[in-house]
Amino acid sequence: MGCRGARYYSSDKDVDLVVIGSGPGGYVASIKASQLGLKTVCVEKNATLGGTCLNIGCIPSKAMLNNSHYYHMAHSGDLNKRGIEVGNVTLNLAAMMDAKSSAVKALTGGIAMLYKANKVTLVNGHGKITSANEVTAMKPDGSKEVIKTKNILIATGSEVTPFPGITIDEETIVSSTGALNLKQVPKRLIIIGAGVIGLELGSVWSRLGSQVTAVEFMNSIGGVGIDGEVAKQFQRILTKQGLNFKLGHKVMGAEKTSSGIKVNVENAKDPSKKEQLEADVLLVCVGRRPYTNNLGLEEMGIERDEKGRIPVNSRFQTVIPNIFAIGDCIHGPMLAHKAEDEGIICVEGITGMPVHMDYNCVPSVIYTHPEVAWVGRSEEDLKNDGVEYKIGKFPFAANSRAKTNNDTDGFVKILADKINDGILGAHIIGPGAGELIAECVIGLEYGASAEDIARVCHAHPVSYVDCIYDLRYFWTVRFTFPLARSHDRHGI
Ligand SMILES: Cc1cc2nc3c(=O)[nH]c(=O)nc-3n(C[C@H](O)[C@H](O)[C@H](O)COP(=O)(O)OP(=O)(O)OC[C@H]3O[C@@H](n4cnc5c(N)ncnc54)[C@H](O)[C@@H]3O)c2cc1C
Repeated sequence: MGCRGARYYSSDKDVDLVVIGSGPGGYVASIKASQLGLKTVCVEKNATLGGTCLNIGCIPSKAMLNNSHYYHMAHSGDLNKRGIEVGNVTLNLAAMMDAKSSAVKALTGGIAMLYKANKVTLVNGHGKITSANEVTAMKPDGSKEVIKTKNILIATGSEVTPFPGITIDEETIVSSTGALNLKQVPKRLIIIGAGVIGLELGSVWSRLGSQVTAVEFMNSIGGVGIDGEVAKQFQRILTKQGLNFKLGHKVMGAEKTSSGIKVNVENAKDPSKKEQLEADVLLVCVGRRPYTNNLGLEEMGIERDEKGRIPVNSRFQTVIPNIFAIGDCIHGPMLAHKAEDEGIICVEGITGMPVHMDYNCVPSVIYTHPEVAWVGRSEEDLKNDGVEYKIGKFPFAANSRAKTNNDTDGFVKILADKINDGILGAHIIGPGAGELIAECVIGLEYGASAEDIARVCHAHPVSYVDCIYDLRYFWTVRFTFPLARSHDRHGI
């Protein structure tokens, strides 16, 4: 199909790959494809690159988490207790927001530079698939650019799931996007949903002075995949930090009043138990849904599943073999590193290389303080599936680095196969959990046993990894490991 007045690329199928979207899935795929020799065009509708992650997701939220943590340490007297006397600590929210924006600007600009360096052609416009070998970019000035291509990769990501009956204005009724841009600290913040994003943003505003209440339909916090024991401990720690939780409750509606926002809440089990909460800002945080608007899927006969996701096979092919999809718009956890991995292996597959992705080895991290991180299966998963397992658990309270740093909340919990000791899951709540988990991810990915990890020499006390190492003692007691085993193995 052609477009009147449109600019065309020079010849038929002049391009090997058109990637639609420049989020972590799309930009990583574009760069990798170009490095593998594919002539690659990336079509992005936004003025800046990097998608949700860099513009309104991972990066700005982590900037706010990091800086609000510093503020809290200074303001709460924690630094004073450590012998660093700071008086009259005040918050300059505008400057904190500027620091966040600078990080976003530097990183989104970095992708533009990487595109240039790797010869990825960028087309700014809304991409629509207009045939199996053609993408039409509708540009901000109203013109169109038609790109003929051998392959198309959809990496259009996700958007905030709306809450029925509540209109987000991004001022006082906000999504995560508005919650990362508030002009002042709300006195009372109510969050609908105690999942990962809600807890991260709740922590930020709680540290900056808000009274935060999270209303959650489920009876536990942390969202899908979190181990039940970790979730309980996490809730206790956050409660100690000042966050309030209304679990097993659903929000029925919200209305703006002269004094703020009234939020109607109902007990999930007993709807006769109703109450009205008041907030200055309401954060709607009930998840994200795939974004595939005006992409041409209907016209191409590419159907979506019940959650709006694009079905793909193990090579990320849609029902049209040269049209691929990755990231938040397909199945699997909505995480940046998952989208990136899919982007790389999808384009490797296009160039004929093998394609393999083990979703059980995709880690999850909640960047609160302490952090929460996990990979593999939770204890509940194993119980449900009737898998026989053993547990190794070690508290940070007994870890020398954590003690030294007066940062002792949390524990490491490793789940291993009862018979062959293979790692089934690792769950960490504690300082540095997001970094610590990487070791367990490697272990799980390469089929290590719990003993393999325990017997690796970990530096002391430079890293909290010691906490995993310390499990060795625990295991020795609990599972009565024959210590000679490792010596035998190493031929000593
Ligand atoms: C507040 C928040 C915090 C988060 N924190 C983390 C975190 O710490 N770690 C983590 O792993 N994940 C985090 N996430 C999730 C992460 O941002 C997403 O999983 C990730 O961005 C998905 O990448 P993607 O490439 O699939 O899609 P996206 O990042 O959503 O990118 C899609 C891109 O496609 C573009 N696009 C869409 N349709 C078209 C079209 N038709 N034409 C042209 N362009 C189009 C969009 O403009 C966008 O730039 C967070 C999300 C939020 C909201």
